[in-house]
Amino acid sequence: MKLMFVGPPGAGKGTQATRVAQKYDIPHISSGDMLRAQMRKGSELGIAAKKYIDEGHLVPDDVIVAMIGKRIKEADAQKGFLLDGFPRTAAQAEALDKITKLDMVINVFVPDNKLVHRMTGRRVCDSCSATYHVSMLSDLKTCPKCGGNLYLRDDDAEEIVIERLKVYKESTQPLIQYYTDKGILRDVVGSGGIDTITQTILSVLEGQG
Ligand code: AMP
Repeated sequence: MKLMFVGPPGAGKGTQATRVAQKYDIPHISSGDMLRAQMRKGSELGIAAKKYIDEGHLVPDDVIVAMIGKRIKEADAQKGFLLDGFPRTAAQAEALDKITKLDMVINVFVPDNKLVHRMTGRRVCDSCSATYHVSMLSDLKTCPKCGGNLYLRDDDAEEIVIERLKVYKESTQPLIQYYTDKGILRDVVGSGGIDTITQTILSVLEGQG
């Protein structure tokens, strides 16, 4: 199964994508996680991407398409994959169409007013990439799953979050129509309990939602 999750930053796509990918035993391919790993390594790609990411802007299409194009050709992705954060522009979607065809796109919908609160309170594990909201944590520094260090992403600062939401509306939201026209888009409300949202997504994927 070839899946993609679209939705604004802070919609909970990453959390849900991890769970759904596990359930279907397919790789969860997050363009943001891949870029952050490159930034931590200090690679050429990571250094080039950092200036865009820190400003809340998109990394150029050709860089991202090359990175994801290579990843989905790897052996573990041949049985399917779940894309999270890619494609994010019409040019990326068209490039992906030339490489492979998606089976379904899940649009995780969350009202704007909840997103800023979710992102500015988000903490990410530098080891396993799990994300948490500060309201769920008793220790703000240590990952409850793997013991890694939790950090606040530079691009989760409030002014950058506002810019990222603007970029989402301008560049990524049009993809909802693109995939609706192809007949493969399904909407899922991304607010409520994490388990309930996972169940809703699984029902939609199994054709019962
Ligand atoms: P995310 O973790 O998905 O919120 O992504 C964090 C940042 O990485 C974004 O704000 C962009 O700067 C960059 N990024 C991630 N995926 C893409 C993409 N598909 N196209 C361009 N930039 C991306």
